[in-house]
Amino acid sequence: MSWLTQYVRPKIQGFLKKEVPDNLWKNCSSCGQMLLIKDLEKNLNICPHCGHHMRASVTQRFEWTFDADSYTRVDLPKVAADPLQFKDKKKYTDRLKDNKTKSQLDESIAVAHGTIEGQKAVVAVMAFEFMAGTMGTAFGEGFLAAARLALLQKTPLIVFTSSGGARMQEGMLSLMQMPRTVIAVEMLKEAQIPYIVVFTDPTTGGVTASFAMLGDIHIAEPNALIGFAGPRVIENTVHEKLPEGFQRAEYLLEHGMVDIVANRKELRSTLGKILGLLSNKTQSSEKVA
Ligand SMILES: [Zn+2]
Repeated sequence: MSWLTQYVRPKIQGFLKKEVPDNLWKNCSSCGQMLLIKDLEKNLNICPHCGHHMRASVTQRFEWTFDADSYTRVDLPKVAADPLQFKDKKKYTDRLKDNKTKSQLDESIAVAHGTIEGQKAVVAVMAFEFMAGTMGTAFGEGFLAAARLALLQKTPLIVFTSSGGARMQEGMLSLMQMPRTVIAVEMLKEAQIPYIVVFTDPTTGGVTASFAMLGDIHIAEPNALIGFAGPRVIENTVHEKLPEGFQRAEYLLEHGMVDIVANRKELRSTLGKILGLLSNKTQSSEKVA
């Protein structure tokens, strides 16, 4: 064994040591394949082996959705941080600080306006990378600001959802964002401004139970989890085995809660087509009026 341990093994170890740094590779969270991050990003974070749509950052969403160099990010209103002076294992203010540093974002929502295939739109993106996209007071303010901007510009509002639901650190104030966001959607409906929701994985809790389910058109990314409570909670409550694919985009498409399931690569063109149709309709109804 000596030749093997003294000669071959050090060589193998030497080869293994030359491996590239961890931050260049990522494992697909569905099929486990190792993927080069650079290639994955070029493929819009879709696994080339199994087609799984991995999570995306706010910047990626804006880049993939808007026409090249066409969008401007919007500053969102600031709110009083930590109104309940909440503390669990960590102070809420420290948690916010850590998330700001980690995500380079101010909160779990970002808003921009620009064009999609030449059509003007306001886009709000929920940031899962910021405290799991949870909905607190700052989120509510951000959503209202996006709706107001859409009203002001008379352009459709598109919201990309991805959220763990309400933000427990803000207690009741977090739940209050549910009616607030619903009122914002109502404002758009009254003004006949189109409101489109794009569900991405995962969209759950109070987000699903409020503004996310009120879109004029619901688009979902393939296999996105969309639901209120998790499947295990429901099974334990109803004491029944849930059907295959329950709470997934395709299941909800079959049952009428989602209108379109679109591959991420077709999302910009799908949105562009819808915006084009809606703006033509608005123009023709204006002519009739
Ligand atoms: Zn995969």
